Amino acid sequence: MNIARVALDVPLDEAFDFRVPEGMETPLGALVLVPFGRARKVGVVVGRARKSAIPQARLRDIERRIEDVPPLGAPELDLYAFCSRYYQRPLGEVIAAALPPRLRQVSRRAMPPPKAALTDAPPATPGPTLIPEQEEALARIEAGLDRFHPLLLQGITGSGKTEVYLRAIASVLARGRQALFLVPEIGLTPQLEGLVRARFPGTRVAFAHSHLGEGERATAWLAAQSGAAGIVLGTRLAVLMPFRDLGLIVVDEEHDPSYKQQEGLRYSARDVAVRRAQSLAIPIVLGSATPSLESWSNARAGRYELITLGARATGAKLPRVRTIDTRADRPKDGLSHGLIDAISRATAAGEQSLVFVNRRGFAPVLFCRTCSWHSTCRRCSANLVVHRGAGELRCHHCGHRERVPAACPNCGGVDVAPVGHGTQRIEETLREAFPAARIARIDRDSTARKGSLAGMLDQVRAGDIDILVGTQMLAKGHDYPNLTLVGVVDSDSALFSADFRAAERLFSQLVQVAGRAGRGERPGEVLIQTDFPGHPLYAAVARQDYGAFAQEALDERRAASFPPFSHLLLLRAESKKAGEAASFLASAARSARRLARGVKGGPVEVFDPVPAVLERKAGFERAQLLVRSDSRAALHSFLPAWREALSAREDRRVRWALDVDPQEV
Ligand code: ADP
Ligand code: ZN
Ligand code: ZN
Repeated sequence: MNIARVALDVPLDEAFDFRVPEGMETPLGALVLVPFGRARKVGVVVGRARKSAIPQARLRDIERRIEDVPPLGAPELDLYAFCSRYYQRPLGEVIAAALPPRLRQVSRRAMPPPKAALTDAPPATPGPTLIPEQEEALARIEAGLDRFHPLLLQGITGSGKTEVYLRAIASVLARGRQALFLVPEIGLTPQLEGLVRARFPGTRVAFAHSHLGEGERATAWLAAQSGAAGIVLGTRLAVLMPFRDLGLIVVDEEHDPSYKQQEGLRYSARDVAVRRAQSLAIPIVLGSATPSLESWSNARAGRYELITLGARATGAKLPRVRTIDTRADRPKDGLSHGLIDAISRATAAGEQSLVFVNRRGFAPVLFCRTCSWHSTCRRCSANLVVHRGAGELRCHHCGHRERVPAACPNCGGVDVAPVGHGTQRIEETLREAFPAARIARIDRDSTARKGSLAGMLDQVRAGDIDILVGTQMLAKGHDYPNLTLVGVVDSDSALFSADFRAAERLFSQLVQVAGRAGRGERPGEVLIQTDFPGHPLYAAVARQDYGAFAQEALDERRAASFPPFSHLLLLRAESKKAGEAASFLASAARSARRLARGVKGGPVEVFDPVPAVLERKAGFERAQLLVRSDSRAALHSFLPAWREALSAREDRRVRWALDVDPQEV
């Protein structure tokens, strides 16, 4: 008898056995339609056997093979199996994350076969002549095209990293192989798409990101799998795309938090990309002005080859960065005199300014001066943010909304006022200070409508905007030659955050946002409003000294035994009823401690459960439990047994999720 093991998208670890009808070909990786309970599902053949542990009478037949999707290749199956093991999720779920929804549909129209490379393409737009540093970087990438060759390209903003990626991609295409180009969510701009298309007019480019329609996603997937597409350009989910012959992976802005999937299969696309390059024996280029401390320490340890680009490719000077001491120059409604003056000068000279505030909304919290009450979310205990236009308090974590109260809900007093500054409040202050200026706010609220961000950025580029105010959405990827001034407002809180990655994120945001200033002919200036003008982080931003920042940050991480000096697991639980999540975690901690005792290769440390830092989903009680070890191997030998123990105790009232290598703890 012929048995096929089929992975299905169900929350169970095993693959399911089915009988292969006489005459049906079901190679490994083939998509098949199978009966499942009273329904039918599309699954993938991941194993074959002569007999099954399931009694003959209960074995069911594969209904049919899905012919218009070629079988997944062995390298892809290997990658998905790795993700399943590493992140402890069922293989069927990993495959479901990788396969476009359209291809998993039980009934659909047949997909047309992928179209081959483009004929009668327009000539390629030539790139600029590389400067010597770029030449050197390219030569070092090209020196190892036939082996696993991880490189960290650390280049200041504007140093021309993109140009290096494009040349490396061209080399790989010339050898008849494919390239995967990963960018963060915010990095995937129409400009980048246009640039890639213009450079490679004869090459089919497949896009992979969450804003594509189902049909487009399926078509792109098949084009990559067949080799018809030479380049796949996409966000984190593109790392799971199939290829006929992948020859290079590029991860731009490799430090970006959006590479981490925060739901379901909680993978890090950067880490998966490295593992993929390793098993395919191909180069991978990780690029950033401010690499993650993980990648930086890999480079320092010699595991990655380090390439640095220290000058701007266009010859433009780096902006001058200064702090404004807000203890002396007290901001009024968020803006100091120093910053207002600088904006006036830039506006008068016909230049653009950008004010960076990393908090959307009007003010981060509503505060009662009588009794010290402040607005918190009933569902998740985050501070509720004041949105003045809508007259609402909103939770940026779970989405809860309520009306702004007329009086303090605690004491009934009326001395209730917004504290701190969000983008809306700074926008209001700017409008009062500069009534004649054209001001645009860019954040998640103002760009919710599809296409509105692109529209606003076009206006900025066309010179129709004088002052921009916005969040980190503004910080990267965009090039505004006429922007000469950047102001930074209210960034001090990240210096003292409980989150051990807050300083790293702040540093990279400030470097990115500072990098927006003075990209054209005129030099740029960056002014940071702070109560701590002498803080080493700001000093490192001023000198664009990533190395100094990283050194200090790594010393702190080492002292506290945080990544990259240790590896973490985070178990999160939530329940509707108080006490349930906590007791689930208390028992999870007990079983973890018991299992940790038997682990070889290094101690596994189990912390005590604590109320959760914020997450976006609703729930009345949330808590989390951290497990840590210096040894990745020890942690991963402990993990499966622990996960099994947790699953065995499955309690419908508690929802839990395990995050391997969490980003936010
Ligand atoms: P990064 O990604 O390192 O921040 P970009 O790749 O965006 O930098 O390059 C910054 C600017 O420099 C872009 O406008 C780009 O066209 C330009 N540029 C890149 N390489 C060169 C070069 N060799 N000569 C002239 N201009 C260049
Ligand atoms: Zn009060
Ligand atoms: Zn909330």
